Amino acid sequence: MELLYKSTRGDKAEITASQAILQGLAGDGGLFVPVRIPRLDISLKELAGMSYQKTAYEVMKLFLTDFTEEELKHCIACAYDEKFDTEAIAPLAKVKGACYLELFHGATIAFKDMALSILPYLMTTAAGKNGVKNEIVILTATSGDTGKAALAGFADVPGTRIIVFYPKDGVSPIQEKQMVTQKGDNTLVVGIRGNFDDAQNGVKELFGDQELKEELLEAGFQFSSANSINIGRLVPQIVYYVYAYAKLLESGELSEGEKLNVVVPTGNFGNILAAYYAKQMGLPVGKLICASNDNKVLYDFFRTGEYDRNRPFILTTSPSMDILISSNLERLLYRIAGGDAEKDVELMSRLGTEGRYEITPEMREKLSDFCGYYATEKETAKQIAEVYEDTGYVMDPHTAVAACAYGKYTAETKDTAKTVIASTASPYKFTRSVMEAIDKEQYGGMTDFELIDELAAISKTEIPNAIREIRTAPVRHKAVCGVNEMKQTVLEFLGVKTGGTYGF
Ligand SMILES: *Cc1c(COP(=O)(O)O)cnc(C)c1O
Repeated sequence: MELLYKSTRGDKAEITASQAILQGLAGDGGLFVPVRIPRLDISLKELAGMSYQKTAYEVMKLFLTDFTEEELKHCIACAYDEKFDTEAIAPLAKVKGACYLELFHGATIAFKDMALSILPYLMTTAAGKNGVKNEIVILTATSGDTGKAALAGFADVPGTRIIVFYPKDGVSPIQEKQMVTQKGDNTLVVGIRGNFDDAQNGVKELFGDQELKEELLEAGFQFSSANSINIGRLVPQIVYYVYAYAKLLESGELSEGEKLNVVVPTGNFGNILAAYYAKQMGLPVGKLICASNDNKVLYDFFRTGEYDRNRPFILTTSPSMDILISSNLERLLYRIAGGDAEKDVELMSRLGTEGRYEITPEMREKLSDFCGYYATEKETAKQIAEVYEDTGYVMDPHTAVAACAYGKYTAETKDTAKTVIASTASPYKFTRSVMEAIDKEQYGGMTDFELIDELAAISKTEIPNAIREIRTAPVRHKAVCGVNEMKQTVLEFLGVKTGGTYGF
């Protein structure tokens, strides 16, 4: 049965999955959502023996119904190949009672690879299906990991260009080095004088700029988004929750139908929303535990029903979660409002004007699957150090936020249900924070690259390719601009306007 997509903000048009992937954001500023969530049409027992690729097909075919079997299998095969350093693609690591779903075995050693290695294939396939002749320009704001993962995915993909904006002082040195060394003539990386929300709002404005849109169309370009608002990002993320459940069933750690809790270190709310969709599909998921760092907007939201972004933006050691506006939450709001676009528009415009909104008691009731916990910087560091000392397993700060949230959850609820903690980055991506958490005195004075060698030694793991490469790679991207200069930057890179400001 064909599954169509429509906007959360009331535009009545229903479009195909491939059209939604191409458009990214809906014309009325809303996010595309499927008109219904499909049910898994295969038993978990059957899924238990399947590879990641086969599982991906079984899940994604239900959402991307206008892709043929051949097309979808081709996209999956191109995405989940040797770029990943393990055949399991998303292995489960069992560490002292906890179960970590490691989502960082792809090209850029963070969980964004799970979706961004397939998005370029979904997008070029979608373009072909819809007779698109324009060059597709991927425009992305990143808090660090999305940018590199998108660049790695789209670099030198014919018919595409990719422009990534990141907060100049808001990403880790290794994250920055990974991005500014990106190869590929179709790539551009620009630092923004502002924080992630500034970068994201700037990108949203460019997407909504009609004048710009027409100017680009005339020059043979059209925008699309690789941000987690794209449905082509969300759907591949559902896969690993189904896969994790199936693997635990296969190993006998879960029995059929038994509930599995998930803990997700959350920023833009994409990853945890995928887990929610998996639950709606019929996967026996229990609680969805939303973990935040000191930017605990979501924690407050789940506790009070009020979303309030009016607070200081705090830079933490888990920068990919330093977010005060979690874009994908809009999809959840739309759903718990019973598909009421008017309500969604009201809340989103409140968020725009007052920076806060409150949901109705009826909506709150529908949030009972979720709960929120947060970890301070001190707790996060302590979590990393303790697990390392007890077990030798080294986790990154984002994962540590989740592990800490899980500890608080079990202490508060005494819930003993089997639980999976989404592990969203390799510790090698945040080496300094990790090593200083373990022993600040010993490691505080070392350079980033010395720390990488130390990490390899203490964790008895191999230095991932992604890190080995950047040690020697030359910096290719040096542009920095203000938020109000983003449009000019885009036009110059595409050669639509010359001004010479940035010298592309
Ligand atoms: C992006 C990211 C997150 C947050 O994921 P969302 O889908 O934005 O909630 C958490 N951890 C890491 C390492 C990330 O890169």
